[in-house]
Amino acid sequence: MDKIIIKDLEIFANHGVMPEENALGQKFLVSAVMQCDTRAAGMSDDITRSVNYADVCKLISSEMQKNTFKLIEAAAERIAEAVLLKYKTVREITVTVKKPWAPIAMSADTVAVEITRGRHTAFIALGSNIDDKRAHLNGAVGEIAANKRCALKKVSDFIVTEPVGGVEQDDFLNGCIEIETLLTPHELLDFLHEIENAHGRERTVHWGPRTLDLDIIMYDDLIMSDETLTIPHIEMTNRRFVLEPLVQIAPYAVHPIEKKTISALLKALG
Ligand code: AMP
Repeated sequence: MDKIIIKDLEIFANHGVMPEENALGQKFLVSAVMQCDTRAAGMSDDITRSVNYADVCKLISSEMQKNTFKLIEAAAERIAEAVLLKYKTVREITVTVKKPWAPIAMSADTVAVEITRGRHTAFIALGSNIDDKRAHLNGAVGEIAANKRCALKKVSDFIVTEPVGGVEQDDFLNGCIEIETLLTPHELLDFLHEIENAHGRERTVHWGPRTLDLDIIMYDDLIMSDETLTIPHIEMTNRRFVLEPLVQIAPYAVHPIEKKTISALLKALG
């Protein structure tokens, strides 16, 4: 991927754990390496098709000066997010915040923090079989789209499916969406749980009826598993009610473990 680079932008600001750092201020040097496709700008020689580095410098300087953080970690995080929210063509950004005058009572060239943040593509499965199912699913889609760190890319049809798992209950309405998100997998899971809870989700009967169920199906080509989260979703390859809506919006997406497209996974289900 092409890169646009800002190196060691000098900014006077007031970040630091010590009160005197907040009062007196000191010099910071900020670098940003932004991954974006510069082909269209390069071929047309048109600045409106690129990321204007002068504007990015102003944005970085404003974020550094209007806030007082204790940590340069927080300053770096704020800069990365501000750039990603404003410049949609930046896929990924590496921000380095150097603090050459850090009060460490020893001689060092500088201390610094470097972070890399970017956009991630996630597929989320939605399901409901209590109350107004369509209203629950539409509500969830709206609430996800309203989060500034999530951009709604595609929404499948909502389809009626029979319950699985043996519990006697009403039919489900299921759908899938594609989002682009700045959230990490666990932040996304927490956010989805907040939405489920706001819709009165109760976890009583396993496989039982639910006002709203939101599952992370895939997140980029990430493969991970811990106590609370497994990605890709462990049951996705067996669930017609996930694959049928998913194939509408992502037939060519590839399952990172099975190495098969969603379309092939659905066919294999028979
Ligand atoms: P559920 O009953 O479908 O809402 O799932 C219950 C729990 O599954 C959640 O509280 C999560 O901690 C866990 N879980 C594991 N992997 C996933 C995933 N990919 N998406 C959503 N929940 C998951």
